[in-house]
Amino acid sequence: MSPGTLYLVATPIGNLEDISLRALRILKEVDLVAAEDTRHSRKLFNHYGIATPLTSCFEHNEARKGERIVEVLRQGRSVALISDAGTPAISDPGYLVVCRCRDEGLPVAAVPGPSAVITALAISGLPTARFAFEGFVPAKTSARRTLFAAARNERERTLIYYEAPHRLLAALTDLREELGGERRVAVARELTKLHEELFRGTVEEALAYFGVGRVRGEIVLLVAPAAGEPERESLEEAVARWQAAPEGSRKEMVKILAKRFGVPGSEVYRLSLELGRGREEGQADDSHH
Ligand code: SAM
Repeated sequence: MSPGTLYLVATPIGNLEDISLRALRILKEVDLVAAEDTRHSRKLFNHYGIATPLTSCFEHNEARKGERIVEVLRQGRSVALISDAGTPAISDPGYLVVCRCRDEGLPVAAVPGPSAVITALAISGLPTARFAFEGFVPAKTSARRTLFAAARNERERTLIYYEAPHRLLAALTDLREELGGERRVAVARELTKLHEELFRGTVEEALAYFGVGRVRGEIVLLVAPAAGEPERESLEEAVARWQAAPEGSRKEMVKILAKRFGVPGSEVYRLSLELGRGREEGQADDSHH
């Protein structure tokens, strides 16, 4: 008998409509749904008329539940794994079960959908080309400071954290200590919900903004790479920065900046010659003194 498949099904992170047609079909078709909190998932099931049996699979019984799920799959029955919100196994139960199934050679299939980390990054307005998900910010100050200190020299990637609303100000305060008040951040709150909000600014501005009143709702905190935001500087500034400290040939710089600013290479080249000339003249003036 061929074994059943374990489906990792993503569910909404707020707005109940954010669920795929395939997710709804799979949740209806499988023999069993393992949910982080069955009471929570019952609401989703009622909303969509899903009557599949539910069993619980949460942080503290995940290893034991994993064994049970493996047994069910071996009997040729299929199981869907869901968490309270978003993609299972991402700061949620799932990893141990998936790991166990993979070890046993049992089929695991993804039914992708929302995840707060990707959703927040996409709308943050911070660089998206490279990023690192850092999970939940630790609750203890010392651990938090150590984590943020590691961000000081992160020059390439946007760093993404999950944070509890009542600790946001403490996190921002520690960010200021470790990275300075000028580092750019974004705070995504209540994504896909009625009170969805995206704040973008410096750490200092975020402290001022969230320092008034109580912070509520679910939060994703994003920290821009230390290299700054190239899209905020003008082409001229970018060329000047390169001239001051070249990081490769002029040809490479022209290619990179032309792409970044969406202008012809000839324009970048002309600017670099102009700025170069200005610099040489400036140096020549200096030599008279
Ligand atoms: N598995 C989920 C996912 O794929 O996004 C994450 C689960 S984790 C236990 C819950 C945390 O995700 C929240 O504390 C918050 O940081 C973030 N989160 C989840 N839903 C969110 C939303 N609608 N808006 C902002 N953050 C959210």
